[in-house]
Amino acid sequence: MNTNLQSPVWMVVSAPSGAGKTTLCNCLLQEYPDIHYSVSCTTRRARPGEQDGVDYHFMDVSAFEAKVAHDAFLEHAEVHGACYGTLKESVFGQLIRGVDVLMDIDVQGAAQIRRFIQSDECPDVMKRAYVDVFITPPSIEALHERLILRGADDADVIERRVNKARDEMESRCDYDYIVVNGDVETAYDHLRSIYVATHWRTYETTGKK
Ligand code: 5GP
Repeated sequence: MNTNLQSPVWMVVSAPSGAGKTTLCNCLLQEYPDIHYSVSCTTRRARPGEQDGVDYHFMDVSAFEAKVAHDAFLEHAEVHGACYGTLKESVFGQLIRGVDVLMDIDVQGAAQIRRFIQSDECPDVMKRAYVDVFITPPSIEALHERLILRGADDADVIERRVNKARDEMESRCDYDYIVVNGDVETAYDHLRSIYVATHWRTYETTGKK
């Protein structure tokens, strides 16, 4: 009997800004250093401390458009006035070698990927590996409070972020799993459980989106 059924995991994570997604993804990458973090392309400027090729591939609009023209992206979207896209090679190339992939993208990008997963174009290895998770604050009020306490944004920016979060949270039930980030330890426990369980999912339970 073949018991070696474990397949790679392609975990897509989305969350409203301020929900703690970066912290939770970093915890997973620290505990499981073999996971490949898919570095997106973006036209936004690097923030202090961010490194090209590590946090993002930073590029100007014409370089981004050239990649769109060459069909290099699995998905791409405009978020907060800048373009973001996931390179096909940074997902497929890893999964085919049996390496897990973690991706942090917005709800529009996740919806595009779900459509791709359902299409006949999508290779089997990607269908099998796919799982998506929506990280949410316990409530809009809690998010509002968190953004105020963080002190990084002006009141009007906070208002915009909260309104956007409300819209994004409408999409939460399109995801396989929801992780409520009330306290980081519990939320990370839940995220880790999803990651571990997905490795052992049988083929019959995948590709049914
Ligand atoms: P930030 O600029 O704060 O790093 O990210 C802003 C938003 O862009 C976040 O919601 C993040 O998930 C999303 N994002 C980052 N990379 C990608 C990508 O490749 N595709 C899409 N659709 N969204 C992305």
